[in-house]
Amino acid sequence: MAEVDYPASWYAATRDADTARAPLATQAEADVAVVGGGFAGLHVARLLAQKGKRVVLLERRRIGWGASGRNGGFVGPGYAQRSGALIDRLGLDRARQLYAQSQRGVAIVRDAISELGRPDILMGTGKLSVSRTDQGAGFADRTRRLAEQLGAAFEPWETSRVRAVLATERYHQAIHDPTSFHIHPLNFALALADDIERLGSVVHETTDAVEMTRDGSFWQVRAAHGAIKAPHVVLAGNADLGAVQPRLARAVLPVATYVAVTEKLGARLGEAIRWAGATSDTRRAGDYYRVVDGDRLLWGGRITTDTTEPRRLRELMRGDMLSVYPQLGNIDIAYAWPGIMGYAPHKMPQVGEVETGLWVCSAFGGHGVAQTAAGADAVAAGILGDPSRCHLFASFGTGWAGGAAGRAATQLAYWGLQMRDWWDEKRQAQNAETLRT
Ligand SMILES: Cc1cc2nc3c(=O)[nH]c(=O)nc-3n(C[C@H](O)[C@H](O)[C@H](O)COP(=O)(O)OP(=O)(O)OC[C@H]3O[C@@H](n4cnc5c(N)ncnc54)[C@H](O)[C@@H]3O)c2cc1C
Repeated sequence: MAEVDYPASWYAATRDADTARAPLATQAEADVAVVGGGFAGLHVARLLAQKGKRVVLLERRRIGWGASGRNGGFVGPGYAQRSGALIDRLGLDRARQLYAQSQRGVAIVRDAISELGRPDILMGTGKLSVSRTDQGAGFADRTRRLAEQLGAAFEPWETSRVRAVLATERYHQAIHDPTSFHIHPLNFALALADDIERLGSVVHETTDAVEMTRDGSFWQVRAAHGAIKAPHVVLAGNADLGAVQPRLARAVLPVATYVAVTEKLGARLGEAIRWAGATSDTRRAGDYYRVVDGDRLLWGGRITTDTTEPRRLRELMRGDMLSVYPQLGNIDIAYAWPGIMGYAPHKMPQVGEVETGLWVCSAFGGHGVAQTAAGADAVAAGILGDPSRCHLFASFGTGWAGGAAGRAATQLAYWGLQMRDWWDEKRQAQNAETLRT
């Protein structure tokens, strides 16, 4: 049975009772082999199992051990790449179709939670994307125009409305998306895995897929003590795919980010945050947070290509919380943990068939809870004979992400963007000060 345990997190501490699954120890046959037990692999497996396919899923550690079981839990449309950049690159029609596919991902997650009979996994509704600089008079019109272009439901909130629910002067206007919601991601992953088994497919844990070869019209995926022969293989390993397909493994850059959860804060949290939805700020690597367990603050933020955990992670996260809500005063951090996001250079997911019967569903970056379902839906439809939804992602390749040089370039770009965010805020604060004096 699986010997690997989950890293300490609030999610692991509040997860459903779960039984470790046996590693692969036979020569098995399947319609589809899936590598990776995060949301991407789980959704592909479940969507195909629902259509009667026999799927075998291999997970190196535990179900939801990677990004899927330790993220912020925000579920919403869009992608890691901004919609404006997608319109510029692809034109309005294609960008709108891609956005619609992400909305389909949101719907798949919402429907799955209800089909699984687990309303408790859905922890709150609505999301605010708040700006830390004043967006000026045209903000509302610009936001409405973009929503109309994309077929989106988001709407502008003026600063007074934002500050009525978030008691901080750091924030100005916001974009409110009523279709977003937030979940317990680890329990969702565990419930998806249970459902895959209920549908007659198989899930193995502590099974590292280390090699794959072509065998006529089949693929052989090998692990230490067994192998799977299948006409289709889906690689859903995020930034950690490893030796099983080195070229695709090199195409995804690992970027670390962090989450912390406070001890119970009592009434002072409700006075600072009078909003049951999720919140993130619009900086390039901004804060994202929500209230969980009644009066704990779950706070995510910071990104770095250095994937070693900072020694003073708890202090760093506490500092970030207090820089926005100093009125919270003394706060103790109960849990703090790192997670790895996988990014392709174009910041869009890699979704599609890269060779006959070899599919990829990966690189969802920091926007993956709904988007993995959107990608999985496209891949599952492709395997079932309808390639049209995979075509939406076809212009985003699976090329090399640059290795160590790519990591250094990404880190430099990130620092540059962070400086720009800092400078924008500082300049506005100085202007406001000059006007007051
Ligand atoms: C801290 C953090 C906060 C985030 N917050 C949000 C958020 O609030 N909202 C949002 O939309 N997105 C968020 N994201 C992003 C989101 O979590 C990811 O995009 C998404 O979970 C990726 O799912 P995945 O299945 O592709 O990858 P993962 O969940 O990482 O799963 C990949 C799995 O594949 C396994 N694996 C890899 N290679 C092999 C192999 N060779 N053999 C067997 N198994 C293998 C790994 O062990 C791993 O479990 C966040 C990410 C992080 C890290």
